[in-house]
Amino acid sequence: PSFAELGLDPRLVQAIAKQNFEKPTLVQRKAIPLALKGQDVLCKAKTGSGKTAAYVLPVLSTILKRKAVDPTPFTAALILVPTRELADQVFKAIEQFSAFCAKDIHAARLTENVSDAVQRSLLANVPDVVVSTPARAWHSVSSSALSLAKLQHLVLDEADLVLSYGYDEDMENISRSLPKGVQTIMMSATLSAELDALKGIFCRNPTVLDL
Ligand code: AMP
Repeated sequence: PSFAELGLDPRLVQAIAKQNFEKPTLVQRKAIPLALKGQDVLCKAKTGSGKTAAYVLPVLSTILKRKAVDPTPFTAALILVPTRELADQVFKAIEQFSAFCAKDIHAARLTENVSDAVQRSLLANVPDVVVSTPARAWHSVSSSALSLAKLQHLVLDEADLVLSYGYDEDMENISRSLPKGVQTIMMSATLSAELDALKGIFCRNPTVLDL
């Protein structure tokens, strides 16, 4: 199928075309339809497989659909990544995919190098999507700068690295701050035992894509 046939918002399809993506990669073909249905997905995907678009596109598409009927801003998606570099890449991808719906998608990036004051002002604008390391996300939640009360999507990218970077406690704390019914999408280079811990905390019977 083409990107348009996967059921994504036409403004996203337009942005995809502008980036010269000809057709969806394997992980995108498999993960996007499941994620659009609201299912939890645990997907084995390496860097270079197109994993970022595989979760960013369905999450943005769902937010756009909801905003068409209910424009009230709230943070609907939290994307957790182990490193600042990955946060930068994911944030950039969100900006590129939002090129034709920039008014409807506000994203914020929280990382260790951004001052508290700047993070507070970013969050005061109520971003639809927050990209963060687990430590920064928990810091913002515990100081009430970030509300997860209405969160709908939680993404763990490079999930196998999240715990090995020592974010265990932050992940536990975040899990306790989530409302019921949050969709969890996990991307991981390996489906190792480490993932079972995260899966147990966050997923409701996920569809496993062992590609
Ligand atoms: P990722 O695996 O998400 O790190 O993506 C690796 C690279 O592939 C990024 O530079 C993307 O812009 C690019 N990419 C992602 N999906 C596609 C696609 N369907 N067609 C061509 N390039 C893509």
